[in-house]
Amino acid sequence: MDEIIRAVTEDGFAKITVITGRDIVERARQIHDLSPVATAALGRTLMAASILGDMLKEDDATVTVRLNGGGPIGSVISVSDSKGNVRGYVQNPHVDLPLKANGKLDVGSAVGTGGQFTVSRDLGLKEPYIGSTELVSGEIAEDFAKYYVESEQVGAACGLGVLVDTDRSVACAGGFLVQLLPGAPDTLIALIESNISSMGQVTDILSSGGDIVNAVLNGLNPTVLKRTKVEYRCYCSRERVVRAIDSIGHEALEDILKSGENTEVVCHFCNTKYHFPPSEIEEILAKHLP
Ligand code: ZN
Repeated sequence: MDEIIRAVTEDGFAKITVITGRDIVERARQIHDLSPVATAALGRTLMAASILGDMLKEDDATVTVRLNGGGPIGSVISVSDSKGNVRGYVQNPHVDLPLKANGKLDVGSAVGTGGQFTVSRDLGLKEPYIGSTELVSGEIAEDFAKYYVESEQVGAACGLGVLVDTDRSVACAGGFLVQLLPGAPDTLIALIESNISSMGQVTDILSSGGDIVNAVLNGLNPTVLKRTKVEYRCYCSRERVVRAIDSIGHEALEDILKSGENTEVVCHFCNTKYHFPPSEIEEILAKHLP
């Protein structure tokens, strides 16, 4: 079972959010039949969204992370609820690229760097809060850290990793976002930087049974404040799909009805198929307010 762990250093100057997300990423892979590089790209984005979602204070709020880098994977979209439960999809789930020289999946080339890392927070108000930064590498962790530093005006560092097994299933997945609080001493910053550069990849720590909180905050005596179970969760329902169909407008509904065909709506996030015979479209049309 996946979880989000929040911890703080003994001196209170650095806090960390860690996610272990193997089941979330494996579920996404199965739903979308993702290629290995798409599994890594969507997996990292899902975990970034989950970390941001866990920080939302409003119960009904959601946060959406969207990458539009112009690479062959197309758009990568992940949405989290305020408890860190996530869902997502990519435009081209079967994208396949050669491995990088170091043998790693080439997420950066799949995503591309010709666009934005965009975060929108829907807090239930009229308009969502939207912020975006230019993509730096398309590798997602670096892009996420840059976004966070610029939007929150705090020091931060991030690691995100997905290890895909030889049978294409997800062996492990996880990540962290560490934030510095105002007044953090230089010695603490230097120690965290040194920990991050010497600890290796997030997936190395996870596959050897290590602990990300203690690896990043080694020597700073961290205390775990909270653990929250998180999962891949879609909120689609027949009722929501009816509202979406209704929103296409009177004329478009009449056109569907005239065609006499069954209407199929597929949820982007979980691939659930909803079928509507003409009689139901007629019902929606009858209730539709012009
Ligand atoms: Zn769904």
